[in-house]
Amino acid sequence: MHNNNNETVYRLKSGKKPELLIPAGNLDVLKVAIDYGADAVYIGGQKFGLRAKADNFSIEDMIEGADYAHNAGAKLYVTVNIFAHNDDIEGVKDYFNTIKESGLEEKIDAFIISDPGIFTLAKKMLPGIDIHISTQSNNTNYLTYNFWHDMGATRVVAARELSLNEIETIRNNIPDDMEIEAFMHGAMCISYSGRCLLSSYFTGRDANKGACTHPCRWKYSIVEEKRPGEYLPVEEDDRGTYIFNSKDLCMIEYIPEMIKAGIDSFKIEGRMKTALYVAVVTRTYRQAIDDYYKDAKLYKSRMDYYREEISACTYRQFTTGFYFHKTNENSQIYDNNTYIKNYTYLGFVEEINDGLIKLHQKNKFSVGDEISFMAYDGENIHAVVKGMYDEKMTPMESAPHPKQLFYIELEKEILQDIKKGMIIRSRHCEA
Ligand code: SF4
Repeated sequence: MHNNNNETVYRLKSGKKPELLIPAGNLDVLKVAIDYGADAVYIGGQKFGLRAKADNFSIEDMIEGADYAHNAGAKLYVTVNIFAHNDDIEGVKDYFNTIKESGLEEKIDAFIISDPGIFTLAKKMLPGIDIHISTQSNNTNYLTYNFWHDMGATRVVAARELSLNEIETIRNNIPDDMEIEAFMHGAMCISYSGRCLLSSYFTGRDANKGACTHPCRWKYSIVEEKRPGEYLPVEEDDRGTYIFNSKDLCMIEYIPEMIKAGIDSFKIEGRMKTALYVAVVTRTYRQAIDDYYKDAKLYKSRMDYYREEISACTYRQFTTGFYFHKTNENSQIYDNNTYIKNYTYLGFVEEINDGLIKLHQKNKFSVGDEISFMAYDGENIHAVVKGMYDEKMTPMESAPHPKQLFYIELEKEILQDIKKGMIIRSRHCEA
């Protein structure tokens, strides 16, 4: 397909737009993802997902989250992607029984599973729920995709180690109704598709059971056994020693290439990320995908804006991972392992009442500060805090206590543009 300038414009064979798939670590973040434009959200239950440290969802939260997603026309996927040991099997059966008894079989759109044993158990106990094969299963070729299609899976998540050319070859050799999901944005595991023993070895917490402590981000030296306490630096180059520390994936500039490869679902990584991060990344990718489908020229012309927005939320330096070539020394971060933050998350709008906005404090701000509300359509509504009041309507200068519930007063003219659920942030460079 070509546009007026005779540029090639890519579309999926299915005729659909690619799905924007967003992670959520708790119910509040799920709602943020949906409000800012996610087509689907993936979450972990309290057991058997690969993000044990995310808050995770109780059965009640899952029900509320599924209803919230479905009311907005979005989908809900639940991870059950641990590598189960014998001792885990009875627990997984109990978990599946609880899902069945709670009526969640009707509400969960798909499970994300990596273990073939758990796959067969889910098929048998909860046949109404589609199954997506997790990236943890190292899905690297079209025979694997066809195998899972024959087994009854509806989607396979591509291994992060594939190039876009390889994914396109997979697309051309699998049935049209088999969906391909691939990572679009977020942290990379330095090990092969997350199969990693570093965390188990150093801390006893198993990455393959969702308890990774991220030792790949730590700083390493060599110690010679007869000279304890003498740390010999490991230097890949003169910038430093973070030998395992990958940059984050960011493909916002390559939406046409992702569509050309036949990827049905664009996945954002990060079930432990904050609501601010999820709002910014979701809103920006939503706009970029929609802009491309409206007009490829519009998409290109707004690239600086997308980059600026994405860079303004919490982030590491970016890479395109394995998509265009094998990773090299430029895919690593050597100077430090910390995130750069350009915005501070202040809270979200709980209620608008009598000209006041009710919120919970996430980070401190004060009367007179400039803040901005992230509108759902992509605009930012800037405001100056005119007044702050506690629950008894006593005026305050700032909200010093974490999670404190309070009210803020703004200029009346902008109140009509502010909606429930909008994220509130402030520009605050901490590079
Ligand atoms: S230590 Fe790093 S590479 Fe290993 S599983 Fe955890 S995040 Fe992935």
